[in-house]
Amino acid sequence: MLDYSLFRENSIQGRYINMKSIQPCFAKVTAVVNCIGKSVNGVDINAIQIGKGNKKVLMWSQMHGNESTTTKAVWDIVNFLQSDDSAALHILKECTISIIPILNPDGANKYTRVNGNEIDLNRDAKNLTQPESIAFRRWFESFQPDFCFNLHDQRSLFSAGKTNKPATVSFLSPASNKERHITPNREVAMKLIVAMNHMLQTRVPGQVGRYDDSFNDNCIGDTLQMLGVPTILFEAGHYTDDYAREKTRELIFLAIAEALKVISRDQINDFKAGDYFSIPNNDKLFFDVLVKYPEVVNAEFEKGHSIGIRYKEVLDDKKIIFRPEIAEIGPLEGFYGHQTIECVDSKDFGFASFQKEILDLLLKINK
Ligand SMILES: [Zn+2]
Repeated sequence: MLDYSLFRENSIQGRYINMKSIQPCFAKVTAVVNCIGKSVNGVDINAIQIGKGNKKVLMWSQMHGNESTTTKAVWDIVNFLQSDDSAALHILKECTISIIPILNPDGANKYTRVNGNEIDLNRDAKNLTQPESIAFRRWFESFQPDFCFNLHDQRSLFSAGKTNKPATVSFLSPASNKERHITPNREVAMKLIVAMNHMLQTRVPGQVGRYDDSFNDNCIGDTLQMLGVPTILFEAGHYTDDYAREKTRELIFLAIAEALKVISRDQINDFKAGDYFSIPNNDKLFFDVLVKYPEVVNAEFEKGHSIGIRYKEVLDDKKIIFRPEIAEIGPLEGFYGHQTIECVDSKDFGFASFQKEILDLLLKINK
C-alpha cells in the first residue's frame, strides 16, 4: 500500500481551491503543460501530460467549480507520478496521463457549480455552448484517451445504501444509451471501479456508494462512454468530521493510483463487472445535524418530530464557511445525522436550546 504522506501536496488544503491556489503547483511541474483553452473570463485552462506509454488516461477535476477535493487529489497524483516509486515508474512506462486540474476556473473562483455564464458544464457535453466545453472536447479529440476519469464532489447527504454510513466515495460507470445496456466499454469502467472498491473497503468499509445511472447525453460521462471510451465518475463525499475533505482527498488519491496501477499492469480482467452491482446505491439519508425530539410535545413542533439541518457552503473572504439551514422537520425516521443532538428533557424544548450546541459544532468545523 502506498504511503500517502510521501505524496501529499502540502501547499493546498481545505475547500476553497482556485487557479491562484494551484499556480505554485504548476510552477514546479517538470512534465509538459499545455494550455487547452480559456474560460469565459479569459483564465487559461491547462493540461499536464506525463508518461510515455500507449495506454492513455485523461482526467479532469472541478468541472463544477465548488467541487475542489479531487483537484487536491490530482496534485497528490502528480507528486506520486513524479516520484521514484516503482509503481509510478511502471505507470509512466505503460501509460500517458493527461490531467486537467480545474476545468472550470471561473466557477472555482466564485465557488459555484456553474461557469462564468452560469451554465452547468456537465449539462453541455452535447450542445458545446461554452468555451470550457469546447476546449475540453478539442483536447479529448486530440489526446484520444483510452480511459476517462471524471472527478467530482458530492454533498454530505449521501449514504452508502440504506445504512448509517456516509458515501465517502461514490462511483459510476455511466450509461451509454437510454436502455442502460452494459456495453463493452461500460464493463471496463465497471471492472476498474470494482478494483478501486476492493482497495477502499480496506480503508473505509461500507462507505463506498454507486451513483444513479439514468442516461443523459448532455452529461459528459454519458457522452464519452457513448463515444466508446470507458469513463468513470468519481464522487468525493463526506467522512466523519472531515468538512475540509482532507481524508476524502487521500482516499481519492489512493483510488486513482489503484486504477492507474491496474491499467498499467493489464489487470483489468482480474476483476468481475458483476461485482459492480454489489456496491450499494447512493441513498440520501444524512443530515449534517439531526436534532431529535423523541417523545415530547412542545410549542414549536409536533410530538416526535425531529429537525434535519444541512450546512450551506458559503465563500467568505477566501474561505468556505458552513451555515446551518433547516432542511426538513418531521418524524425523519430512518434518517441519520453526521452529528446528532438528542433533546430529552423539557428544558431542551424549542430552537434556543439546541442553537448553542450547533454553534459549538460550527466553531469546530469553521476554524
Ligand atoms: Zn459535480
